[in-house]
Amino acid sequence: MKRIIGIDLGTTNSAAAFWDGDEPRMIPNDRGMNLTPSVVSWSPNGDVLVGESAKNQAVVHVDRTISQVKRSMGTHNTYTVDGDVYSPVDVSALILGKLKDDAEKFLGEAVERAVVTVPAHFGEAARAATIQAGRACGLDVVRIMNEPTAAALCGAGRGEGTRRILVYDLGGGTFDATCLLQDGRTYTVKSTAGDRNLGGLDFDALLLDEVLSAFGEQTDIDLRAHPALLQQIRDSVERAKVELSTRNSVDVALPFIGLGGAAVHLSHTVDRDSFSALIAPMLRKTIKITLQVVREAGFGVQGIDALIVSGGSSRIPLVHTYLKRSLGLDEVHMINPDEVVALGAAVQAGMIERGVDTVRVTDVVAQSLGVETYGNHFVPIVRRNTPIPARGKRVFTTVSDEQTVVEIHILQGESDEVTGNTSLGRFVLSGIRKAPQGEARIEVVFEFNEDGMVSVSAFDVDTGVRHSVSIAPESDRASSERGASGLEAIRSRVQMLFDRLRSDIDAELAAETSQFLKLAWDSDSAGTEETYEIVTALEALADELSSYADVAEVRSAGS
Ligand code: AMP
Repeated sequence: MKRIIGIDLGTTNSAAAFWDGDEPRMIPNDRGMNLTPSVVSWSPNGDVLVGESAKNQAVVHVDRTISQVKRSMGTHNTYTVDGDVYSPVDVSALILGKLKDDAEKFLGEAVERAVVTVPAHFGEAARAATIQAGRACGLDVVRIMNEPTAAALCGAGRGEGTRRILVYDLGGGTFDATCLLQDGRTYTVKSTAGDRNLGGLDFDALLLDEVLSAFGEQTDIDLRAHPALLQQIRDSVERAKVELSTRNSVDVALPFIGLGGAAVHLSHTVDRDSFSALIAPMLRKTIKITLQVVREAGFGVQGIDALIVSGGSSRIPLVHTYLKRSLGLDEVHMINPDEVVALGAAVQAGMIERGVDTVRVTDVVAQSLGVETYGNHFVPIVRRNTPIPARGKRVFTTVSDEQTVVEIHILQGESDEVTGNTSLGRFVLSGIRKAPQGEARIEVVFEFNEDGMVSVSAFDVDTGVRHSVSIAPESDRASSERGASGLEAIRSRVQMLFDRLRSDIDAELAAETSQFLKLAWDSDSAGTEETYEIVTALEALADELSSYADVAEVRSAGS
């Protein structure tokens, strides 16, 4: 059986570990460090740097360096360096590729499979993008694992008995709180919640603002206008923040800044109390989420047997103060908060390697999944915190007489309104029996499998007409046979609008749409630039057409 490694693909740092036969062990990188900065940089001569060297180069080549790519996973953001355009998947593939290379050097064997961790609240698109990034660098991602589950697997022991575990994970870019029930070798996630935009980088940003404002007041110089200097100051600020976890006061100093010939000295003292006051509102938010998760798990604050803290930012003393106060603890014990997730992934990797399924992990759906209904409403069909594999169904009906087509718009999130949630894709169910409004019965079924993939089907109960889609890893660049989002969704949407338009509204526009549609259908080069051009053109047309024709809507008939 070939080796499987565990990877914590982090916002600021990434790490890899393996199962050595008895226990999980970290895999050091080529510099002997267990953490590799999740930073990619292109040197002027075209070399691609990943990790510490890329981070160092960020100071001189800000515009050639990419960091925090994890925050963009699953989005259509792009990065341009030297005229070349990179997607978040491309950049993450470079980071994963570096971890893979370092692991191969350390272990002395080829590594082709990995368990990769993601934040519990990562949506489908971000999970799919993570799998794609692995594939792009030659790593088969055999399992996507939620970070808190990994931390629990490493940190909570693998003994007998029942334990209620709370994982508080505060990293560079994200926060998660998760409650798990460990019963012998079975881990059941009871509840999870988080914030994708809350972490050490936000604390850095607050502190940086303070330093820059103070400097601006003293000197009338706006350092924000000097990107290279700003990067150096950002690094000093982060170092100062880290030191404040063990010292009461530190200096953010940058001697002899040369600006317009004049040498200026930057020095600003920060003490722990003022830093604590700065970040307190954000930390209180993490505690609020934590208490909500504990309540949802039905544990009760007194009932927690093990608290596991993970993520570099969990070293901040105020985090411990808040956790102790809110959970009624005397002490917060920490084991390697930076490594616990990678080690947990290695525990899981080791189990898959050995084919021993004695430890069972049951996860929950992190964000509710559902559809849009009439009037911008979101109707959840699988609610968050439902154990995976999850299945949910609901019956809907038509909003107009003789309506034969409905569009199913798949969404993820907790807002009652469509616009407050993330769109995962759309598809069309046509061939519905003609009937007065409200008579047709359309059953929509959601299934969420153990790999975090969603399949959705719509079924006309009377005619038996059915359409299903899976939101697969390639969904962002789906070919015409696959995928609810991406190309196919846009095609279906435009086709539907076109069908309605052809008969009675604007023949010229319809002809133009038809031409574009043909182009898109004939193209089997999903993922290429031409395809994206077509998609963009179709999107623009779809928007334009929307103003002529109302998209067929479905509304809840109650269930
Ligand atoms: P992670 O995403 O888990 O790698 O966490 C990285 C974040 O933790 C970065 O924002 C670091 O600045 C922060 N960090 C690491 N060590 C400390 C520390 N001792 N005190 C405060 N923040 C830290």
